[in-house]
Amino acid sequence: MHPLEKLDHAHVWHPFTQMRGWLAREPIVIVEGEGAVLCDVHGRKYLDANSSIWTNLHGHNHPKINSAIQRQIKKIAHSSALGLANEPASLLAIKLVEAANSKLTKVFYSDNGSTALEVALKLAYEFTRRTRGGRAGRSSSQANQPIFLSLEGAYHGDTVGAVSLGHIDLFHKAYAGLLFKTDKVMSPYCYRCPFNRARPERADAREYRKCNWECVGLVEQKFSVQKKKGNPHAAFAFEPAIQGAAGMIPQPESWLKKVSEIARGHGALLIADEVMTGFGRANPLSTLNTQHSTSLFACQRENVQPDFLCLAKGLTGGYLPMAATLTTQKVFDAFLGGYHEFKTFFHGHSYTGNQLGAAASLASLEILQGKKSIRARQKLEVALRNELKSLWQLPNVGDIRQVGLIAGIELVKNWRTREPFALREQAGIRVCDAMARHGVLTRPVGNVIVLMPPYCTTQGQVKRTLEVLRMAIAGTFRLK
Ligand code: PMP
Repeated sequence: MHPLEKLDHAHVWHPFTQMRGWLAREPIVIVEGEGAVLCDVHGRKYLDANSSIWTNLHGHNHPKINSAIQRQIKKIAHSSALGLANEPASLLAIKLVEAANSKLTKVFYSDNGSTALEVALKLAYEFTRRTRGGRAGRSSSQANQPIFLSLEGAYHGDTVGAVSLGHIDLFHKAYAGLLFKTDKVMSPYCYRCPFNRARPERADAREYRKCNWECVGLVEQKFSVQKKKGNPHAAFAFEPAIQGAAGMIPQPESWLKKVSEIARGHGALLIADEVMTGFGRANPLSTLNTQHSTSLFACQRENVQPDFLCLAKGLTGGYLPMAATLTTQKVFDAFLGGYHEFKTFFHGHSYTGNQLGAAASLASLEILQGKKSIRARQKLEVALRNELKSLWQLPNVGDIRQVGLIAGIELVKNWRTREPFALREQAGIRVCDAMARHGVLTRPVGNVIVLMPPYCTTQGQVKRTLEVLRMAIAGTFRLK
């Protein structure tokens, strides 16, 4: 083993990883990256088909982001946002506000997706207590606390507040004793929806579903029932357009608009988690003309205006850990007061508003809004759509769902019955391991293979990714 591989095995504990399995084989140690390609310590090259866990936008080693960081580092790397302002954080705030193009005018910085959600949660909680009359406003008893609603299968991060909002038993059950209670409602998982009467077809389940929007009816019901209890939901948290870690579950068109109107009608705040979907990832560029395709957030697809917009991952183009929670003047105002009133938002991290992160983010946004990137995204979306079609030949592919530059391929035992693999069979992991052996890196979510290439990925690289995926599925399930 290479000395770096040995060191990793000796001391590094990897996230979301069964370390016994990890220690049983040689780790891939990345030493370089260029565009969509990662290079390991032996000089082997890999396509980064999930953009380094959904973070990277424009490719690795991007000259513009590199030089923005270099320019900034010559001035200063970091000074505290507790008591001080700084140049790139202020410049970035206005850019984010402009990109959100809504009533979101205040930006609270933090470090990662989980903290972006944690900030939204705490703000929504305290805003509700301060502004809502009645029991939720006054009472400190557990039963009348502001209550949050999120989607089945939701994943909003790993800090305790974010975990409380989540509903993935595999990740969250062990910590039940640490969490506060939240409410959950059906998410529109058309492929496995009990209300979908359509037999499986060789197409995205959203296209051939037969239902009467029962899932939306259930959302309405949830809000009504809670309202009758005298403590209406304080906020509804969701990933717009597509739920990621839940299994790449895309929402059928107009679902988001419908449920957000219901939530608003019941007085709930909207928390949009765009940690994965933000920065053009989920926006269907090829259907828009170039002038209008600069919208960067999935909420904008259906003109949904959240009260909190949580951003991380792609904010810095995938370079540095930085996050932002955007909110409204109204929420901001609820925290204003004389010092002695102690209405301050008592929350913050040491690296809040970090200059290097903000400089990288500014460069990334500039690239993102340029014509070249818009054209590249349009082309990539079409290439991905075209190449994905070939997977329908495989009987172990049950559903292929694409939203913008995100694709989920659900593996099944039999596409005609939708029979799933048990998690312990590790179908997704085995396929991804086989892909890695052929030079394409991604991670599954359960039985769903995720493709989320950097925006600079070429048509040839998309073609190669799909070739390898086909080969990996056929090899794993011994298909001819
Ligand atoms: N929200 C969503 C939608 C995510 O996909 C993730 C991470 N996968 C998070 C929040 C948490 O982000 P982080 O890992 O940066 O804490």
